[in-house]
Amino acid sequence: MRLRWSRQELALTHTFTIARSSASAKETLRVELEYAGIVGVGEAIPTSFYGQSLASAEAALAEMAGLLGGDPFQITPIVDRCLARFDDQRAAVSAVDGALHDWVGKRLGVPVWRLLGLDPEAAPLTSFTIGIDEPDVVEAKTAEAAGFPILKIKVGTDRDSEILSAVRRVAPDKVLRVDANGGWPPAAAAEHIRRLEPYHVELVEQPVEPGNNDVFRQLRQTAAVPIVADESCVRPADVVALAGCVDGINIKLSKCGGIREALRMIHTARACGLKVMLGCMIESSIGIAQAAHLAPLADWIDLDGHLLIREDPFEGIGGANGQLTLTDRPGLGVDRRC
Ligand code: MG
Repeated sequence: MRLRWSRQELALTHTFTIARSSASAKETLRVELEYAGIVGVGEAIPTSFYGQSLASAEAALAEMAGLLGGDPFQITPIVDRCLARFDDQRAAVSAVDGALHDWVGKRLGVPVWRLLGLDPEAAPLTSFTIGIDEPDVVEAKTAEAAGFPILKIKVGTDRDSEILSAVRRVAPDKVLRVDANGGWPPAAAAEHIRRLEPYHVELVEQPVEPGNNDVFRQLRQTAAVPIVADESCVRPADVVALAGCVDGINIKLSKCGGIREALRMIHTARACGLKVMLGCMIESSIGIAQAAHLAPLADWIDLDGHLLIREDPFEGIGGANGQLTLTDRPGLGVDRRC
């Protein structure tokens, strides 16, 4: 098996701001795995918050090329070898995992969702994300997102009520989810959540920083809305630790290490009575497709990274109006845009 990778620059339509950072472009790695004349593709989205960079992901990929062995159908042992060596470079592992799934699907002529035994009709609609901004800009962005029935609003500031108020002026009846990205101080989080009550949000994601599972547990007891962990939930063991502390977890493939590891987290979450959200970073249709094939297993979908960029180099997964398309195309079902 031959592994190669290249950097791809993704320019954002709008500068994207969350509680801890802001970006106008994102660079990811397109990974290709070639064997027997078939090329499988995957995408790595290294994230500094998890101790990753483009360089660290590239270094990990260079070493992973020697861990692949000679049979791409052995996805689970290959991914396990990569995770054992690179526990902290899960974005790179996810790209290899995605490329292996794409390769096997193409080799067998079936889409990944079918390899996984899933029903594409069961996939929920995706939310569309509105980053933190001045209230008038938030209002304009909400109007721009008119076609999306579900919105995820980034909060975690002292002006969250103004932001939600701006959204509600344009979208009085839409389903709204909020994500604080750990931006609220633990002692004030309950009050911040209470202030959002007039805006009838469906759930609150990551109200406080990771390392605060006890705070999550207290918030869950007092808050009137479900609490979902994102940054606090990276590996399967984190799911077990969060049982009883939150209502659900947000799984991202570049965070956890790909489809195989995500499946472990989903099944662990179900055994612990937790709901499941599938989320993403800023990424192209390759990375989104990797997660989208798991969508039928999720309660909530937030797979809009490819919709936030100006020129997606790949296509095939849809997403307009919140509807991702899981087609019969083999593998991940994405192709380079002509
Ligand atoms: Mg989040």
